[in-house]
Amino acid sequence: MKKVTEMTKEELLELQKELQKQYEDFKAQGLKLDMSRGKPAAAQLDLTNGLLTALDDYHTESGLDARNYGVLDGIPEAKRLFSDLLDIPAEKIIVGGSSSLNLMYDEMMRLMLFGTQGEKPWKDVKGIKFLCPSPGYDRHFAVTEDMGIEMIPVPVTADGPDMDVVEKMAAEDEAVKGIWCVPLHSNPLGACYTDETVDRLASMKTAAKDFRIFWDNAYGVHHIYEEVPLKDIFKAAEACGNEDRILYFFSTSKITFPGAGLAVMAASESNVAEIKKHMTVQTIGYDKLNQLRHVKYFKTADNIRAHMKKLGDALRPKFDMVLNTLEEELGGTGLASWVKPKGGYFIALDTLPGCAKATVAFAKEAGVVMTGAGATYPYKKDPKDSNIRIAPTYPTPEELDKAIHLFCLCVKMSGVNELLN
Ligand code: PLP
Repeated sequence: MKKVTEMTKEELLELQKELQKQYEDFKAQGLKLDMSRGKPAAAQLDLTNGLLTALDDYHTESGLDARNYGVLDGIPEAKRLFSDLLDIPAEKIIVGGSSSLNLMYDEMMRLMLFGTQGEKPWKDVKGIKFLCPSPGYDRHFAVTEDMGIEMIPVPVTADGPDMDVVEKMAAEDEAVKGIWCVPLHSNPLGACYTDETVDRLASMKTAAKDFRIFWDNAYGVHHIYEEVPLKDIFKAAEACGNEDRILYFFSTSKITFPGAGLAVMAASESNVAEIKKHMTVQTIGYDKLNQLRHVKYFKTADNIRAHMKKLGDALRPKFDMVLNTLEEELGGTGLASWVKPKGGYFIALDTLPGCAKATVAFAKEAGVVMTGAGATYPYKKDPKDSNIRIAPTYPTPEELDKAIHLFCLCVKMSGVNELLN
């Protein structure tokens, strides 16, 4: 296809007519598809159905009855499983309930209400701010917004957040209390933090003594095209005396069953002691039967890694389908750009400036719900109105094929309209 951005007005008008016709054909199909959230498809969930029958006994390895109250921070064998998988000492690990977002929210709430390591509660900090690499995970931004913390967008490259900006903001303003980070296969860009990014985050000077990195490694073992290593942020931070800075989160939501998996938090031993002091008031303990069934089902970290290979194999054809269709339909048009992710759950696409909202609206009108345009930015405000998150996992291959073709058509329609404006 000729570069659309270089077409004459006559050519654009001709193309507009043609696209409109194709769009009417799509509308006539009465599609009803949801590509708005990164949910696994039923076929992916089937891969861990063994979990449903894995619990043949309710005793932990120490003989504890997992049906009853007790054990605040996770049964030792569950801690060990995640310790092996994530290479984090078990003493640093808390195995919580079934949602890491819940752990993040609670942690933010504790910092707001009680403060940490003798510093004043964040609710008492005037003009409190958080650094938000954007585009990023909408629910991170929702947590910060809910607490009344001002969000500062920070650009993201394939290597992680723009560290020049991060270092400057963190060093200059005492009210900047932290940063959201998704260090591997980030939602939605697929960014993977380089060693340099990790080192700089771990070692940078911060005006706030209680600056905290919310290290949400949600896609830490979710490789699809390439196994990407991640530098150990705890070790990097320890080396410069900043160990308390790191608050690490992980879950099996995209490994086993979202909403019925296991969530994990890890932090320095002194942070863990502080967290447990409050957690013990909040709950008597999390679901140990769920912890036990995950341990009995997987047994070893290597088995989780092997399962992730299978999941990668299941997801690759869907990612291939999206990437190939984007290339066939939009490659060379000048109307969109995107980056092939190495893993994770999403593909992020940039339309021409000012076209994301219109694209998503066109798709919706024809029966395909995408993630809301702007949702991946603080306050849902994409300054360029150009970023759209594509979530290929949930639809069946047949549905995905239809949805992504329609989506490309919508990108073209909004692009042509914008050029004619
Ligand atoms: N963190 C990121 C970056 C995510 O993309 C998601 C889900 O999409 C979550 C956390 C949610 O995790 P959980 O299900 O453990 O609450």
